[in-house]
Amino acid sequence: MRDRKRPLFAANWKMYMGPHEVEAFISKYTTLFAPRDDATIVIFPPSISLVPFALAVEGRSDLEFGIQDVHTEVQGAHTGAISAAMVSGTQATWGLAGHSERRSEFGDGDAMVGTKLGRLFDAGIQPILCVGETIEEREAGRLFNVLERQIRGALEPLSEDVRRELVYAYEPVWAIGTGHTATPSDASEAHAIVREVVAAIVDEENAKAVTILYGGSVKPENIKELITAAGVDGVLVGGASLDPASWAVICDCGR
Ligand code: PEP
Repeated sequence: MRDRKRPLFAANWKMYMGPHEVEAFISKYTTLFAPRDDATIVIFPPSISLVPFALAVEGRSDLEFGIQDVHTEVQGAHTGAISAAMVSGTQATWGLAGHSERRSEFGDGDAMVGTKLGRLFDAGIQPILCVGETIEEREAGRLFNVLERQIRGALEPLSEDVRRELVYAYEPVWAIGTGHTATPSDASEAHAIVREVVAAIVDEENAKAVTILYGGSVKPENIKELITAAGVDGVLVGGASLDPASWAVICDCGR
């Protein structure tokens, strides 16, 4: 059972770090980062690097890993796609759905994201629902509406059991890969909205206990202020997780 109280440090490697690069990263990172039992560390390599990743972290059971995206079906004629059921064979235990790059580049809509979350759960993989607004939506005062629509739309096809187990990542689109980080109070405000929506759809108890990550230009220089912001239970890090030294500094925060 996932410990909801431990801070969660998650790395999204996106389309970086092919199979031939994983071993060097892990060997450097593990010399810099000693296991800690008061936090959860999860890395999302590209799918082709999952098996090399599993081999590279043998003996470091503290380093968990997951898949960045899966197909909505379990198997079938879907060239180039990977299902959650297949991923579970790699020992990956986490899965993202709804990352803003999937939404904008591949057209993943809220209902599709919900189906993916369900497939991950059915395969024994912990699903993370990514949500976040664009700068236009924020400036138009639509933060609440966007987060509510994304969460409601994704939770719609899911059973009560799955809804209760979700982890959320709030990632403002304007902060992803841009160097423009949300302020701690921006993050707290959005996380409070996520909790409010979860309370309305699931219940108060789940909303209080749920893990919500902040993502968007997190780096060694700002990790402390973000991870200690009210309502922030962890971080999802893209660019700064590709360097073993900066990822180690981030994962050491609060030790
Ligand atoms: C991400 O891709 O989830 C992300 C937050 O990226 P970055 O840290 O580079 O903004």
